[in-house]
Amino acid sequence: MRRLAKEQETGKRIYPRLLAHARPYVHRILGALACMVLSSACAVIAPWLLRNIVDDVLISKDMAMLNLVAVGLVLLYLAKSVFFYGQQYLMNWVGQRVVVDLRLRLYDHMQRMSFRYLYGRRVGERLSRITNDVTILQNMITTVFIDIVVQGLSFAGMIAFLLYINWKLSLLSFLVLPLAAFVLDVASRRLRVVGHDVQKQLAGLSAIAAEALSAIRIVRLFATEEQEYGRFESQSNAHFRALMRGVQTNAALTGIVEVILITALAAILWFGGRLVVSGELTPGELIAFLGYLALLVQPVRVFSRVVAQMQQGLAAADRVFEILDVESEVKPPKHPEKVDPIRGEIAFQDVSFAYNEGAWVLEDVTFRVIPGEKVAIVGPTGAGKSTIADLITRFYDPQQGAILIDGKDIRRLDLKGLRRKIGVVPQDPVLLKGSIAFNIAYGCEDLSEGDIESAAKIAGIHDFVMSLPDGFNTEVGERGVTLSGGQRQRVAIARAIVRNPRILIMDEATSSLDAAVEQEIQEAMKKAMSGRTSIVIAHRLATVREADRILVIDRGRIVEEGSHEILKDAGGLYSRLCCLQFGENHGSPAE
Ligand code: ADP
Repeated sequence: MRRLAKEQETGKRIYPRLLAHARPYVHRILGALACMVLSSACAVIAPWLLRNIVDDVLISKDMAMLNLVAVGLVLLYLAKSVFFYGQQYLMNWVGQRVVVDLRLRLYDHMQRMSFRYLYGRRVGERLSRITNDVTILQNMITTVFIDIVVQGLSFAGMIAFLLYINWKLSLLSFLVLPLAAFVLDVASRRLRVVGHDVQKQLAGLSAIAAEALSAIRIVRLFATEEQEYGRFESQSNAHFRALMRGVQTNAALTGIVEVILITALAAILWFGGRLVVSGELTPGELIAFLGYLALLVQPVRVFSRVVAQMQQGLAAADRVFEILDVESEVKPPKHPEKVDPIRGEIAFQDVSFAYNEGAWVLEDVTFRVIPGEKVAIVGPTGAGKSTIADLITRFYDPQQGAILIDGKDIRRLDLKGLRRKIGVVPQDPVLLKGSIAFNIAYGCEDLSEGDIESAAKIAGIHDFVMSLPDGFNTEVGERGVTLSGGQRQRVAIARAIVRNPRILIMDEATSSLDAAVEQEIQEAMKKAMSGRTSIVIAHRLATVREADRILVIDRGRIVEEGSHEILKDAGGLYSRLCCLQFGENHGSPAE
């Protein structure tokens, strides 16, 4: 009961939304509807011709009518096939178009969704919604819609013809046929139950055999062969009994169902025959009547299938709309302020942030980075360092406090403009399928070759790229060259600085690079940072020493702040981290 209510409620919400998506294509829908009406009319008229065959041709021997009926039949089906083509083409056009529109909206929406949502679900599930659910929906829009309209119209038309031929015979049929259908339904349900029982007993049988055979050593040791045999035997007998019950039910039901169906038919024939004899009905009309009754089965069968398809479709639509209804938490401002030009000052004011409610990842974080300053953030894994970086690029908004760039709350700034002004080198850089030049210039259309090359030079990858046969046009990824971790890191550095951002955020690669490569990347990073406000999530002491200031983060709070020289001997967390990383001699690490 509750499920039904929920489905109805879901349906009420979803149909109007689906219709809204189909609205732009209303002309095609109307065209399709016209075709459906006409093709159903052709289908409904056909059995009526039986009356002419019997009454005019067979009984009255009217040869002209025979020719007419033969030609009429062909023409009728010709027309039907034309209208069928129209209905299928137009309705599928609308269905597929709505699906393309929905899929594009979903894709666009997902690209903008907050990371909290995207990271919270498995990628596979999200892709499945884009592909499967939308396809199920398409099926509902086309097949189900066509079925409902065409079969509904045919059903109504046939009932009308039946009533028109003879209402008394129709009433009798409407009484006995549903009764027979009901018995048929009960019988098939009963058969299914018996079938399940047989399956269950059989499964029990194999379970017992498997269990006893896998424990055969114990069975022999304890000499319980007979006991196990007894268990198997009684289960075999239970299976046999279930099987025979199935055979009995099947045999009895088949006979009963047949008798009931024939009784219903006999009743209709008996009454119809009397009507023919009394002159109330012509023989042709009785035959046409039976023809309509036989065809009536089709819409009924289709309807029961359509109900299941519709439920599937509604569920799919519900899931699709559920995603579309999730609003991104990071909302672009309605009246964005420009970020151009930018000096590059960053300030956190009492920022508290949690991914999941109640579990603070950052608490009351306050700091200021002046333009051109190089700040290193250090702290244990999970302290919240990357989260600080993600907040600056507005991947998330803090629940409390504010982040300012050049004194302006970043929630008021143009989101895309802000992100363009910040270069980010992630810890594990992702390269997209395409050339090296494409990867460096990703997202910037107005770059010259010179820009790309000079960024590559700063990142220290220019010479390597030039040594490749296709230079900057060399493809990377599956079908192209495979770059090493260090080379990928350099491409990422080039990508971050190619648009000359005022602010640079770097998450240093941790253990994936060997010491020599690490040293070289360090050089590249140093060059990249020069003249920019830089925040480095530092894992190496070299970076930390280069920094103007170090922020030490622990469990979401800034616990220490200052230069390496001051902090190393302060006896706090930083001193301990130095000890851990570089042994006792933390003042002069071996780099
Ligand atoms: P760090 O960079 O210092 O290692 P992070 O900023 O990555 O730390 O993570 C800080 C805390 O937030 C960790 O406890 C981590 O498990 C949690 N966290 C990070 N990202 C997410 C996320 N997308 N959803 C939920 N929790 C997260």
